[in-house]
Amino acid sequence: MRVTIDEDKCCGYAACLSVAEKVFDLAADNIAAVLVEHPQGELADQAREAAAACPTSAIILLDDTE
Ligand code: SF4
Repeated sequence: MRVTIDEDKCCGYAACLSVAEKVFDLAADNIAAVLVEHPQGELADQAREAAAACPTSAIILLDDTE
């Protein structure tokens, strides 16, 4: 899995941090930053939870082949 952020959609609500604080951080411009681009195991589960929790669907999860 590869995690990316659509910076045009991210509104800095930080819901992603509350469920996956090891995968995401908020940059100074209040846009989410990806700390672990290729999460495995528990962190991959947290990244999926964060994508589901993001109110603007700004978190994009890709197959590693994409
Ligand atoms: S939950 Fe979505 S909108 Fe909020 S900071 Fe994370 S990526 Fe951005």
